[in-house]
Amino acid sequence: MPVTISNFINGELMASKSGRTSPVFNPATGEQSATLGLASATDVKAAIEAARRAFPAWAASPSLRRARILNRFLRILEDRIDELAQVITSEHGKVLSDARGEIQRGMEVVEFATGAPQLLKGEITENVGTRVDSHSLRQPLGVVAGITPFNFPAMVPMWMFPVALACGNTFVLKPSERDPSAANIMAQWLKEAGLPDGVFNVVHGDKEAVDAILMDPDVVAVSFVGSTPIARYIYETSTRRGKRCQALGGAKNHMIVMPDADLDQAVDALMGAAYGSAGERCMAISVAVPIGDTTAQRLIDKLAPKVRALKIGPGTDSEAEMGPLVTKQHLDKVRGYIDAGAAEGAKLVVDGREFRRQGYENGYFIGGTLFDNVTTDMKIYREEIFGPVLAISRAKSYDHAADMINNHEFGNGTAIFTRDGDAAREFAHQIQVGMVGINVPIPVPMAFHSFGGWKASLFGDHHMHGPEGVRFYTKLKTITTRWPTGIRTGAEFVMPTMG
Ligand code: NAD
Repeated sequence: MPVTISNFINGELMASKSGRTSPVFNPATGEQSATLGLASATDVKAAIEAARRAFPAWAASPSLRRARILNRFLRILEDRIDELAQVITSEHGKVLSDARGEIQRGMEVVEFATGAPQLLKGEITENVGTRVDSHSLRQPLGVVAGITPFNFPAMVPMWMFPVALACGNTFVLKPSERDPSAANIMAQWLKEAGLPDGVFNVVHGDKEAVDAILMDPDVVAVSFVGSTPIARYIYETSTRRGKRCQALGGAKNHMIVMPDADLDQAVDALMGAAYGSAGERCMAISVAVPIGDTTAQRLIDKLAPKVRALKIGPGTDSEAEMGPLVTKQHLDKVRGYIDAGAAEGAKLVVDGREFRRQGYENGYFIGGTLFDNVTTDMKIYREEIFGPVLAISRAKSYDHAADMINNHEFGNGTAIFTRDGDAAREFAHQIQVGMVGINVPIPVPMAFHSFGGWKASLFGDHHMHGPEGVRFYTKLKTITTRWPTGIRTGAEFVMPTMG
């Protein structure tokens, strides 16, 4: 009998009142592991109400006290990382070492947020006018919400809530309905770390829960990570209602391989970046762009045998390099893209469609797939596949490759592999993409920098975590002060100047 997963509201597990549910599966076996209660608008209101009530005391608490709670949460995560990784693997499918990796990257944001007293320090200018001082400070916004995707059930929520809480906001998280358990575990551990009830709440659900968040006037800011059509919808709907919004969308990340690149290094990088986590990463490399036919052929000769030799299995198999896809629907979608690529005339160098893992026949497995001669008009080039499918799109020159990237709808991440410093510098300078790697295939910024793409990969003005995260979750106030001195100047009717 699968367990039922409830919302976490005001420090307690609370069953959804909608009567609607959705199944959660173990992607390696295809078996249902849990039933998720989907939140109704009333459940969502209860969570927002709990967060609204908790806000004044939390916002007024010293930032050092908030930081210490996050510090205790960090230590719990450190101690129990394996427990959380197991849960992620059982619902998402990624291999355990990769699940631990995403928790580690999330913990780094918690670590960053424990610097709250330093992060929230304001600025002061003495004597902006005669005996007049000015200082500016950052104050929390209120109730903020996070809506997150399936592919990083721990890390992406941790891009948001540690910084939001450190800044003094209260939080409502709506995680993906496909792997919801990590959110509840983190909520329990935050409570154990001393977080007051109502400061962090989790509502599970689908569009109904999301719309309830977007429509509620008590939610003042929304952070979203997911696919581009939903990111656009979230951004337009929340900003129309006067909310602050950062909405991160999909990606199609290109990696240029220059003729002078260290090819073995480039091939290893491509293997991890294209097939790690079964390609279900927004920073996955899904298009390799070798410059010239000679580079392309050398690259494919080295790459294809490695793609065929990928070790694919359940995430709990310590030998496995890649696990299954997240759901049966997603498996069908990725297979559909491979069918489409073949039908459009791309050359299928390695075909993963027939892969089967003995003993796991009902799991959502697919083999690593490699296409050559992918052209920019093809569906598999234009759209995000979000599976272990790497397209090789040959370019005649560096300029041709850079144009391809700059003309693509998405602008999340990109990389160049080269030994030529001048080419790398030019690339970093002019490429229209938010995160750039030089001989680094997945240039995910560390927690103390900010994460975000350009173009259809991000709607809004702020990237996530790092300094941009602090700016997103606070509003600026500037105070100008003069104390009575006994010297009277009389009423002034002109615009005050401080000269
Ligand atoms: P998704 O857009 O399907 O879902 C994301 C969230 O939106 C979930 O919580 C889901 O419940 C909710 N949602 C889904 N449909 C909705 C609707 N019609 N109305 C309102 N809410 C809705 O994304 P996903 O499949 O869970 O995640 C994969 C996508 O996320 C990929 O496109 C990937 O590139 C993207 N992603 C982007 C980044 C980034 O930093 N740019 C990071 C991780 C994932």
